Amino acid sequence: MWNTKNLPVFALLAALGSMPFCATVSRAEDAADLILRHGRFYPVSSPGAREGSLVVRDGRIAFLGDDAGAMALAGSGTEVVELGGRTVTPGLIDAHAHLAGLGAALVQVDLVGAASYDEVIRRVREAAAGLPEGAWVRGRGWDQNLWPDTRFPHHAALTEAVPDRPVWLTRIDGHAALVNARAMEVLGIDSGTVDPAGGRLIRDEAGRPTGVLVDRAMELAAGGIPGAGTEERRRQLELAARHVASVGLTTVTDMGVGGATITDYKALRDAGRLPVRAALFLTDDEALLESWFASGPEVGPERRVIIRGVKLYADGALGSRGAALVEPYADDPANVGLLITGTERIADVARRALGAGFQVGVHAIGDRGNLVTLDGLEKAFGGEPHPEARFRLEHAQIMRLQDIGRCARLGVIFSYQPRHATSDMGWADERLGPQRLAGAYAWQKALAAGGRLALGSDFPVEPADPRLGLYSAVTRQTLDGEPPGGWLPGERLSRDEALRGFTLDAAWSLFLDDEVGSLDVGKRADLVVFGRDIMTVPAREIPETRVDLTLVGGEIVYRREESSE
Ligand SMILES: [Zn+2]
Repeated sequence: MWNTKNLPVFALLAALGSMPFCATVSRAEDAADLILRHGRFYPVSSPGAREGSLVVRDGRIAFLGDDAGAMALAGSGTEVVELGGRTVTPGLIDAHAHLAGLGAALVQVDLVGAASYDEVIRRVREAAAGLPEGAWVRGRGWDQNLWPDTRFPHHAALTEAVPDRPVWLTRIDGHAALVNARAMEVLGIDSGTVDPAGGRLIRDEAGRPTGVLVDRAMELAAGGIPGAGTEERRRQLELAARHVASVGLTTVTDMGVGGATITDYKALRDAGRLPVRAALFLTDDEALLESWFASGPEVGPERRVIIRGVKLYADGALGSRGAALVEPYADDPANVGLLITGTERIADVARRALGAGFQVGVHAIGDRGNLVTLDGLEKAFGGEPHPEARFRLEHAQIMRLQDIGRCARLGVIFSYQPRHATSDMGWADERLGPQRLAGAYAWQKALAAGGRLALGSDFPVEPADPRLGLYSAVTRQTLDGEPPGGWLPGERLSRDEALRGFTLDAAWSLFLDDEVGSLDVGKRADLVVFGRDIMTVPAREIPETRVDLTLVGGEIVYRREESSE
């Protein structure tokens, strides 16, 4: 991370202390640090691919063109990587994710893909056996939509399996949790507990909590569950950052962080333990926002940790029926979902953010969540478009058609996660009914309206691997190729549109497009070397296209071991 090349020339001269070395030193300063030779490069800023070589100097792209022109910049210390025709794209950017959440998820009981409640309980019981007495069991990733019985679970079976220690299991979307009886006892949750605003305790006929806490009801646990210590948190964050670098990500977003997490990021950066760039969005906490609005955005050294965004939540998620809808759920006629933040609060935070130089990203999933958000942003904008503010609708899953047009007109970015469409397509129509599907996961309608798409994964809700996101974006199919032709296939993205959404337009959505997102001379050398041409392989092979090298700021942060794959 730190080498002599980053030192100013005078410091080197002082260190060497003698003039005869001067000429050598200045030549070394001019020479390339790294040349990627004989490759196929997708610059993204211009269409198509070009064959040739790319030169990295001082962490930036110094040249992209013919092989001879590149080799003319080589010096004695230049590392040359022979690509042999392999493909290079700009480093992939995840515009909406939770890196610290991924770190925590990596050490929790993994419930992703569990095909039944019994399977969840089996995994929890196994994990519990290895923990110290009284310790909480934490798990993440259950999804009742995958079970034979798709209703929310009841804690009774879980309590029977693990009676003696508290259990907390977060749903796949992070918008609900299942707890056992011991946890409810510790947290003081019982029949007398009132539903908090923006949250709900699922109850049985007698009014007793079933153990499922939806949205803000999860805050009943605030302070009740002991968290990881500082060094453990940082270890988890580093683990997550190394993982995402290995799948080709060079910049990730962390949506909704507080002060402790920000300190963790900076500490890792300063210790050279953060291999990727991280753009942090502050969580909606009034004291946190006030202090950051007073001090202003921070981009930090080398654009490694950037703090200039605020995350708000308009509503919940579709899977737990917390997404706020204009009309009731098609499969739950008494339910219109949960509005978490209203127009006034959104407008107020947006106005202050504008004044302080921050951007706002609002989680909005249901059509009512989206319309309330756009009302708030439009108010803050005084009714005028404000593309330069780079405000964002996070998820933007179900929208009235007129709101898709309004979002594009206001210059608000559509922050989409293509995998959400393919994860939800099995049951979204039951929740929504046929009419609302016209504005559901409507990527091409957003483009046609003149909107800009920033793509991401929402990991750890979905896997972090951007190859899976690219695949979902261009196919709208499961990995098995279902349904044939893709779900609502008119909304599929082209390969170029998908790559742009994961690179240049994601960079735009983070105020990073001057620095990264395309293979242009002068930009920071963030890029990925793929084993094959991910832009032309058959779509079903996109997920298995090897990542051979990941570079951030010209530094190789991931190199595939020869033996793997
Ligand atoms: Zn998210």
